[in-house]
Amino acid sequence: MSLRTILSIGALLTLLFAAVDSLPKKYRKPKLPADPDAIVDTDFDYYVLAQVVPQVQCYKVNNLWKAENSSCSPCASSWARNDLDWTVHGLWPSNLYSDRFLGNCNRTARFDGEQLDAALRAQLEYHWTDLKRAAYRDDFWRHEWEKHGTCAMRVDALSGMRNYFQRTIELLKRFNVGHHLEKQGVMPGNHYDFDEFNDAIVKAYGARAKIKCAKSPTTGKQYVNEVHLCMDRSFEMIDCTGVLAGSCSKKKKLTYAKNANQCTNKTVINE
Ligand code: AMP
Repeated sequence: MSLRTILSIGALLTLLFAAVDSLPKKYRKPKLPADPDAIVDTDFDYYVLAQVVPQVQCYKVNNLWKAENSSCSPCASSWARNDLDWTVHGLWPSNLYSDRFLGNCNRTARFDGEQLDAALRAQLEYHWTDLKRAAYRDDFWRHEWEKHGTCAMRVDALSGMRNYFQRTIELLKRFNVGHHLEKQGVMPGNHYDFDEFNDAIVKAYGARAKIKCAKSPTTGKQYVNEVHLCMDRSFEMIDCTGVLAGSCSKKKKLTYAKNANQCTNKTVINE
């Protein structure tokens, strides 16, 4: 390598470091401390409220696609639910710099199931359902709290574990995708072009959201699986940025699934 090339590379790197240094602090990636118990400086710009179509998420997280065309669902036993009631995947503080959510911001803040009283648990079971039926009680809530809730706790509105769960459920009730789509005439049990579905979301919320699809390895159908709504720090809707339709193919129809009925003993599908 010639001296001139080395000097040019050096100059380029200096420029790059200077550019990153001049970025406002909130657009920089938080530095993770060497001490795993330390609190990470994790300011964030917006929240993602991720909601799922429970039936489809259940097929996906349990790899139960063989039940796809069955009249009953081997998913949660307390399955009877309104088709319009989507459930929470999580509330994720995110930042614009990386267009990603933050994670595990405070490793000393542990999940404490004792803080969830019976009334809140009942709400969580219905609206923030563990569709994997995890081996350990509260596993899904623990995961979401330790990964995302610990990043939200720096904001008064969401500080405290109980408060984080309670407020997220309030947001879900206010912004439930199933009910907002119904007002646009988009109903479970139907198939839609991606643009048609997307337009309904934009009309319903006045903002762009991320739409995620799950593809059945059995039939190749693509199901609407998740919608990620983006909100500013006052919980007002904002346009999501970045790739909005990453996992959905625009060439194929989107299936918006209905919930199947609960399986009786006779109809239970072997898992
Ligand atoms: P996250 O890290 O917040 O993106 O969550 C991803 C993890 O949560 C994966 O292990 C998923 O399989 C799991 N997961 C997503 N939704 C659910 C759900 N409703 N019930 C149980 N596990 C879920």
